Amino acid sequence: SLPVIAIVGRPNVGKSTLFNRIAGSRIAIVSDTPGTTRDRVSVDAEWLDRRFMLIDTAGIEDVPSAELQLWDEVRTQTERAIYTADAVIMLVDSAAGVTASDYDAADLLRRSGKPYVLAANKTDNTTRLAELYTFASLGMGEAIPISAYHDIGVAEMMDEVFEHV
Ligand code: GDP
Ligand code: MG
Repeated sequence: SLPVIAIVGRPNVGKSTLFNRIAGSRIAIVSDTPGTTRDRVSVDAEWLDRRFMLIDTAGIEDVPSAELQLWDEVRTQTERAIYTADAVIMLVDSAAGVTASDYDAADLLRRSGKPYVLAANKTDNTTRLAELYTFASLGMGEAIPISAYHDIGVAEMMDEVFEHV
């Protein structure tokens, strides 16, 4: 069966934009409204002659207690996606910096023992490159700068992903 690559991270970091960029289509819904992806979206994708399953997930978010049940659901989906994956792309946002839910996602990922790459999305310009060191606090190694929207660094990131599958 095909290797499975999952994209995880908190809402609004650009997971669905990256998913569409890699898949070369617009299957995942891109939206400024956090939490738009409620269900997992997966597609049979190809990158430089390598076939794989690509999974987009809803993001782990900071939500008020009234929505705790929803948060549980989203968290479960992320855990499931990580469990299913052979390699994980953990996405953070270099325009926003590190947040509590980034640490949450990082914890889930570390505990899973699955191979991963850490990618800092929205690194659209060199000013944002200077902010990358802030992600060292996640304890996940160096972040690969990418811009899913402008298609910067995505190929380099995929090279690194394929070292794990
Ligand atoms: P998701 O919630 O993690 O799936 O994030 P989305 O893919 O829905 O994107 C959230 C917002 O970030 C949208 O407005 C996207 O257009 C924007 N976005 C995604 N990638 C980039 C990027 O590389 N640079 C910038 N500046 N914006 C981006
Ligand atoms: Mg999404």
